[in-house]
Amino acid sequence: MIKFLKFFKKIINFFLDLLFPIKCVGCQKENVWLCEECFKKINLNLKNFCPFCEKPARMGCICQQCLAHSPLKNIFITSSYEEKIFKQAIHIFKYNHIRDLAKPLGKIIIDFLYQSKLNFLFNDSYFLVPISLHRKRLFERGFNQSELLVQEIAKEFKLSILNNVLKRTRYTKSQTKLKEKERRKNIKNAFVCIQPEIVKNKNIILFDDIFTTGSTLREAARVLKKAGAKEIIGLVLAKG
Ligand SMILES: [Zn+2]
Ligand SMILES: [Zn+2]
Repeated sequence: MIKFLKFFKKIINFFLDLLFPIKCVGCQKENVWLCEECFKKINLNLKNFCPFCEKPARMGCICQQCLAHSPLKNIFITSSYEEKIFKQAIHIFKYNHIRDLAKPLGKIIIDFLYQSKLNFLFNDSYFLVPISLHRKRLFERGFNQSELLVQEIAKEFKLSILNNVLKRTRYTKSQTKLKEKERRKNIKNAFVCIQPEIVKNKNIILFDDIFTTGSTLREAARVLKKAGAKEIIGLVLAKG
């Protein structure tokens, strides 16, 4: 019987490998989603520009002008979509639902934080909040990509995650084809803070996977700030 089960499992794995072979997203090397060589090729974003207007500003800082309309104090962006391997890895992680990519992608964020010497900021006076998905999208995808990445960061820096404070109330259209103004309108009032008593007076690291115009991050931060959050820092996987 055991022999039969083993044989059966082998056949299933054979077909699974045919359908979804594990191959490096960069060089097609087998049995790994992102090999070490390709991992090293991804350049980190160590530039000093304001994430909103791209004027020179200190690492992760929002320039004075943009800060006037920003509920976030800083935004740290790990790398850019211009990095081909990185973009491909994120795409496969999100749309091909490959959860195993959370580990290498999480490691890129962690490396970035150490290299830009931001790790000192990630101490226990901060709490991690992943941007939430609407339950319909969560059902489609099976997991929240931001939540998986936040777990990797929490493990490394021994931080706590506040998972159930931000809820997405509206199923928003995909932001990818929208212009900045439309994005802001599309995302407006898409979140509510369901446990303001937990958020009150806390410093928060708000995590999102993609930053394009920053409207999602800004809207989520606005809601948390209104609920009484003290200081909010944005952390992002990639600039789109
Ligand atoms: Zn590779
Ligand atoms: Zn600016």
